Formats: sequence, C-alpha cells, structure tokens
Amino acid sequence: MLDGYEAVIGLEVHAELLTASKIFCGCSARFGAPPNTNVCPVCLGMPGVLPVLNRRVVEFAIRAGLATGCTIAEHSRFARKNYFYPDLSKGYQISMYEQPLCVGGGLDVVVEGVARRIGLTRIHMEEDTGKNIHDAHAAGSLVDFNRGGVPLLEIVSEPDMRSPAEAGAYLRALRSILQYLEICDGNMEEGSFRCDANCSVRRIGDRTLGTKVEIKNMNSFRNVERAVDFELARQVQALQQGEALHQETRLWDPDRSETRSMRSKESAHDYRYFPEPDLRPLVVDAAWVDAVRAALPELPPARRQRFEAAHGLSAYDADVLTQRKDVADYFEAMVAAGAGAKDAANWITTELLRIVREQKLDDALVIREWPIAPTRLAALARLVEGGTINRNTAKGLLPRLLGTDVDPAALVAAEGLAQVSDRDALDRAVRDVLARHPEQVEQFRSGKEKVLGFLVGQVMKTTGGKANPQVVQQLLRAALSS
Ligand SMILES: [Zn+2]
Repeated sequence: MLDGYEAVIGLEVHAELLTASKIFCGCSARFGAPPNTNVCPVCLGMPGVLPVLNRRVVEFAIRAGLATGCTIAEHSRFARKNYFYPDLSKGYQISMYEQPLCVGGGLDVVVEGVARRIGLTRIHMEEDTGKNIHDAHAAGSLVDFNRGGVPLLEIVSEPDMRSPAEAGAYLRALRSILQYLEICDGNMEEGSFRCDANCSVRRIGDRTLGTKVEIKNMNSFRNVERAVDFELARQVQALQQGEALHQETRLWDPDRSETRSMRSKESAHDYRYFPEPDLRPLVVDAAWVDAVRAALPELPPARRQRFEAAHGLSAYDADVLTQRKDVADYFEAMVAAGAGAKDAANWITTELLRIVREQKLDDALVIREWPIAPTRLAALARLVEGGTINRNTAKGLLPRLLGTDVDPAALVAAEGLAQVSDRDALDRAVRDVLARHPEQVEQFRSGKEKVLGFLVGQVMKTTGGKANPQVVQQLLRAALSS
C-alpha cells in the first residue's frame, strides 16, 4: 500500500489519573471546576514551596506497569524538564527522565485476525500543565491552572506498529486496560487520554529508521488513524519526489484532513533535564509491588478467554463485550439473572449499546447510567427464550421499559401480549387465511415457495403479531400439503 515502503509508528500516550488530589499537593484533581479554583501555592509554583509525592499516584503507576508486563524499578527518580510556556508557571515540569518507574512490557493486539505484540519502552509519572484559553476573552488569552499538577502517566511504545489500524488497535487495548484498572477514564475528547504519534517510513528491508515526524492534536481514535495514514502517504510522496524530510512536529487538522508543520522538533537536551532536587529518589519495595499485583482485577484478555470458554461466545462477541468493563459486568449480571449467554450477548450488542449511543449515555468508556437494569433485560430475554413472546414483540416492548423499573412479565400479562400458542386458535387463523387467499395457495402448490412468507405475515396480522412465527410456518406447511 505504501509503494515499497514500510511504516514505522510509535505512540506516546498521556493518561490523566483518577486520583482525588493532584500529584504534589492536596488540591482536587477533578475535571470541570470553575477556572483557577483548584489551585494552591504548590501547583501554582510560588517561591519557597515544596512538592510532596501523592502515594496513590505511585500505586496507580505500578498497577499500569504490572498490567502491561513492565518491570517495576526499585529505584526511580523525578527530574525537572525546563521550558517556558504560559501554562507552566514554575518554568519547569516535574517528570521522570533517566530513571523511570516502569520499563519493558507490551500489549497484544489483533488486526484482521493477525496477532502482534507491541512493545512498551517505559511508563513514567509526571504532572500535567495548566491550560491556555484563547477564545474566551476578546482582549487576550487566559490561563486556567486547575489542570496544573494533575497526575499523568506517560506511556511510551516501541516503534513496533506497521499500519494505522495497528496504532488504533494498540490505543484501544491500552485504554481498555487503564479503564479496567480504574485509574483513567480514557476520555479522548476531554483530554484525559491523549496521544502523540511518531511516524516514519523506510524502504522495505531497510534496517535503519527514517526521519521521524511527531503528530499532535488528535482527539479521537479515528483521527489518530486518519492522521497517521495521511502522514505516511505524505512522507512516501516526498521521498519519491526526491525531497528531504525534516524531524519536526506537525499538527493534525481534522477539518482539512491533513497534517501541517508546527515547529522543528526539539531534542531532549533542549530541556536541560536534571534530577528534581526537592524530591527524594523513589524507592518501591517488592512487598508493595506484590500487594498491588495481588489486588489487580481480571484484565480484558483473560476475561475474553473466559467468556469464550465458560459461556461459549464467539471470539467476536467476547471481544465486543469485554472491551469495556461496565459492559462485561452488565453481561455477567444478565447471565446471573437467568438469561442465556448468547441471547444476552445479542441483546447487548444489537439493542442495548445502540440505545446507549443514541441517548448519549456514554461518557467515553464510562456509561453513566444504563437505560434498563440487567435484571430487567434478562427478564425480557427469558420471556423470548421461554416462548411467552416472540422476539419482535420483545423488541417493541423495549422502548417502553427504558428508564423504568417495570417488570417485563407484568407488562406482557397486563397487555395480553403473550404469544398465541393455543393450537386451536392458530389452526382457525391458518384456515381462515388460506380461505381468503386462494390465489397464493395455488401459487405455493405450483412450487412458488416464496409466497409462504406472505401467508405467515397474514396469520401474524390476524393474531395481532402475537403468534409464534415458527409454529405458524409449520401449521401452514402442514395445511398446504394436505
Ligand atoms: Zn495545589
């Protein structure tokens, strides 16, 4: 697809952690407060203050490291990354540089049936910056420091991805894991899960890496894939035309579907990193790591395998159901309430998730409220499985059950919706329909099988849609062949 060239893609993810307070002070780390209300002398960078490391941030970082197979360093260290920007009042960001907390590890992704392992270089902790606001005030720009000091994990992959689709699959797998760990909500639109992509191309067979370009400003999975796709094609075209590529940072413009140059890429030495003198080196002993490991939840790959083995689900259904922890939990609650596993999977993937999307109950990975309780949806599924109502009746009832706690069985009883399974009543309906449609009966007998569908429809109509369509079909065939 790239005309003799191979793509080399590495991703840097910044994940905002769901701790109650910031990384080096006691301010709230919650999103959405009025500007500059979650601030104090420490996170504003006033002279004479000292940072104190939030233990919970370290615990969250260890969780992420263990869940992705990293080695947790016993000794790690914070560093100062020096640069000037209005949203960084201290003039430096406290991050980790030479001695990160987590190294190595990787994630398995499957793209078009092919499994690949994407290596991780490192995971480290750092503080977020404030936010410049350029459009709120006509007279100039403003700065909101609420985000300054909010804890971040920077998760750096190896340049192991070879296509935009693999980059997308890696991001989805990573977000899914962070969400299962309950350490990040994964909301790309609100910026709590951000991604920069490093892209280069090289002739197939080359060992050396091509000139690397960093892409920023991609706020959805779709945009990451589109931006990488555009950038790879741009680089191949430039090389084919004999142009030199420059190491640079480019911005993705989703409206024009292109990347454009922002600045030449700075190198690490431009930041004058040095060890943070106000924080002691971090020591994480084996007992702490073991305690965090023991408390890890079941992670998506394991849950997927269990859903296939224990519930007999297809690989596709198991994957859809386990990408999100809340969806997987919902499925298990339905099964626990007596729904068949395949039926539960079907109701969730075809009906429930569609309603969630339509009603926008979906906050990135977190579904704020379910439109119907799993026990109620299980009860509806059981009415179909038990033959009380047919699937169409059940689908018709679903909108009326949303946002209520009505028992589906009670609704079916109250409205007389139970399937007509009375054999005599159905026989009468069948005879009646055949008598009224002699032409179609003739057509069927002369071999035109398709007309059976019409006759089934007529019987369904006379029973108000309450007949079991399979039974109707059997009765019709029996009557027509007699
Ligand atoms: Zn503060």
